[in-house]
Amino acid sequence: PTALVTGATGFIAQHVLDKLLARNYRVIGTARSEAKFTPLLENFKEKYPDADLSCAVVPDIASPDAFDKVLKEHPEIKYVLHTASPFSFGLDKPFEEAYLKPAVSGTLNILQAIKKYAPQVTNVVITSSFAAIMKANDTTTVFTNESWNPLKWEDVTNEEAAYVASKTYAEHAARKFYEEEKPNYKLATVNPPFVLGPQLFDSSVTQVLNSSNEALNAISHVDPSETSPQKQVSLMAVDVRDVAEFHVLPLEVPELASEREFIVSDPLIGQRVLNILNDNFPELKGKIAKGDYDSAEKLEKECCPKYDISSTVKKAHNYKFIPLEKSVVDVYKQYLSKYT
Ligand code: NDP
Repeated sequence: PTALVTGATGFIAQHVLDKLLARNYRVIGTARSEAKFTPLLENFKEKYPDADLSCAVVPDIASPDAFDKVLKEHPEIKYVLHTASPFSFGLDKPFEEAYLKPAVSGTLNILQAIKKYAPQVTNVVITSSFAAIMKANDTTTVFTNESWNPLKWEDVTNEEAAYVASKTYAEHAARKFYEEEKPNYKLATVNPPFVLGPQLFDSSVTQVLNSSNEALNAISHVDPSETSPQKQVSLMAVDVRDVAEFHVLPLEVPELASEREFIVSDPLIGQRVLNILNDNFPELKGKIAKGDYDSAEKLEKECCPKYDISSTVKKAHNYKFIPLEKSVVDVYKQYLSKYT
């Protein structure tokens, strides 16, 4: 069967492609240009010589009818996995143009295109986020896959909040469309918090990493003489390989086909990341901070949101997540092999 993956060049999407190709799906990936897709295609051809992977150029997911052509030209597409959404910071544009519009229009454009040209599609999976579930600075509510972020666009004052709101509004828009149109396919969303883990291909490792891994990197740049407890991030984490798996599971596990997949491995706090690095990379001694080693557990309890992911985990047959320690170690092993 053939799956369309939007934003195929992204950090998470590359892992999604990997899972799909390993299981012999045919895959069409959208990318802003052929040139951006070519290195990826070469890497995949090397890893899976028999892979059926091709590219459809979609320069901007937010432009009207962005996905019409690819769905019109490929009546074999049975599954649509929509991952593309802006997730880079420091953009030189008003917040609405940079985040809200592409996130919401991109999502509605793909659903409209399926409606117009692809009645054969049986499953749609949209990459939403814990952003659509959380409430800023709330460390007492137990968040579940029924929780919704109450943030309003009018109250957005910084870039991070603009991103969070864009994800919330995009998921709302998708669910509203689905309820109103009652299409034949099943709709699942994947709602991960901070996604950490190695780049699929070593060649994608750059000095500045993708947004979520880069936040991890910032923790390792805390002044090495620092001995106070480190509270950076104060959220939760999940490994990119698990996030990718949960994009494919709704196509294969009927209980997950319509799930709002809220997935988490562990709380995420700077101090824990420093402890993992200090425990696993003696060569970093003196180059990274120790912070206050013994404070990690207390900080996790005090500063990170509470959550209950049992709905999704049960439906995924008691899925076991990759622990934070492995995600962090794998990111740094890969990064340090290139930049020491
Ligand atoms: P990336 O930035 O690596 O991937 C985003 C992808 O979307 C890129 O391929 C990007 O292309 C594409 N894209 C963005 N805007 C447009 C546009 N206007 N037109 C065409 N393509 C566009 O980030 P991630 O892999 O981390 O994110 C993937 C998805 O996961 C996003 O929906 C994000 O919101 C979600 N997510 C990520 C989390 C994380 O911690 N990483 C946590 C929760 C959700 P290009 O690079 O060419 O701009």
